[in-house]
Amino acid sequence: MSVAASPEIRDLRRLAYYDSVTGLPNRILFRDRLVQSIERSRRTGLSLAVLFLDLDEFKQVNDTLGHVTGDRVLAEIGQRLLAALRASDTVSRLGGDEFTVLLPDVAAADAAGIARKIIVAVRAPLAMGDPSIQISTSVGIAMYPQDAATPDALLHLADGAMYTVKANGRNDYRFHSPDVQALAVEAVRREQELRLALDKGQFVLHYQPLFDLRTGRVRAVEALLRWNHPRLGLLKPGRFLPLAERSRLIVPLGEWVMTRAFGRARAWREAGDPPVRMAVNVSPQQLEQPHAADRIAALLIETGFPPSLVELEITETTAMADPEKTSETLAELTALGIRIAIDDFGTGYSSLEYLQRFPLATLKMDRSFIRGLTDDPAACTLVSTMIGMARNMKLDVVAEGVETREQFEFLIAGGCDLGQGYLLGRPMPEVPLRAFLQTGRTWVPRCNRSTPPAALAAGAGGPERMLKS
Ligand SMILES: [Mg+2]
Repeated sequence: MSVAASPEIRDLRRLAYYDSVTGLPNRILFRDRLVQSIERSRRTGLSLAVLFLDLDEFKQVNDTLGHVTGDRVLAEIGQRLLAALRASDTVSRLGGDEFTVLLPDVAAADAAGIARKIIVAVRAPLAMGDPSIQISTSVGIAMYPQDAATPDALLHLADGAMYTVKANGRNDYRFHSPDVQALAVEAVRREQELRLALDKGQFVLHYQPLFDLRTGRVRAVEALLRWNHPRLGLLKPGRFLPLAERSRLIVPLGEWVMTRAFGRARAWREAGDPPVRMAVNVSPQQLEQPHAADRIAALLIETGFPPSLVELEITETTAMADPEKTSETLAELTALGIRIAIDDFGTGYSSLEYLQRFPLATLKMDRSFIRGLTDDPAACTLVSTMIGMARNMKLDVVAEGVETREQFEFLIAGGCDLGQGYLLGRPMPEVPLRAFLQTGRTWVPRCNRSTPPAALAAGAGGPERMLKS
């Protein structure tokens, strides 16, 4: 409908598709958007949520304050709902004190998060009439495709779920399906735990050395995040990063990692430890932040750690999400003296052209290729090719996940610069890492041993048993 419409046509359209009290889409427009969203979900495979809201005790507002004020309250609630939603969402007034919300491309946990946001927004005190009147809302949620496949069925199930909330005390949300409800509640609980974990100081860093494969010297350490969970113990990032990314907690968390890693590395230097480059993983959300490079520069000034000793690791997916913008941000970081590494190389979608345009210093070959050494000929060819390519592009090349002596020997023979993995050194807490760095020892592969060295490295004492002065 891109044809310019006359004012009269615009007015007619407004009457036909919008609610006159709140200015929100009406039932007809909502249903139309729901039909389109279902069609799109069918193609993309992403789920969507339909929320059915009914204001609690709204009749009381109309009865005590009159219909005019009642309508103003409805308009105000409509604005609050709009403010709580994303631009891609649709909120409509069905009639009376009933609203519906369409959330395209969301998982159940996201829908639960938005429902909570809505509940909080509606509960905020009203600026009109009797201040003792507080509105709350009950929200029912149905998911496509889990619960139903048609607009009417989804609305019907969401409506039913809303009535369950009403029957159980109001001012809450509930999914149609008990399974979805349980999963969403669990995800919300984990998100709250994660939010608190940062304040409670439950995150720690471990450090894994990167070795120069020729000299055996430590060239850098990679800071790796761990969550010291009170019930579940030490969790690796795979257990909580997806959640941190979805809830955008990854941004403060990523900044915490940098502050911590740079701060500690500076303290080690001040204590007279040999200087070591600090590698830190950067998430897409962190890089997408406005003025990302300035924020990182500020963290470096704050911690007093020299940019020349910093390497930021980004994945191909991060780099390729918005190559133009990434390219700019990376250039700004490089201008500060920071090195950029492309992490887990070979697993994501990447364009060689862009790889060349990014100001990269290091290419880290993904562990999945190293795992295939030396019995998978395809993996051997790929690794040799990647080493050759990195050298032609004048990049340092790192093998991730080096676990066996055979892999190590293949990499040495192939001209790989650096290695990281259990064979060489596991991720360690700060104290053993510093003890290890202070000795200035080099890694020397054990000769004439049939025992896979990884098994030794896994034992008590960790990498030290693999070391020689
Ligand atoms: Mg990494």
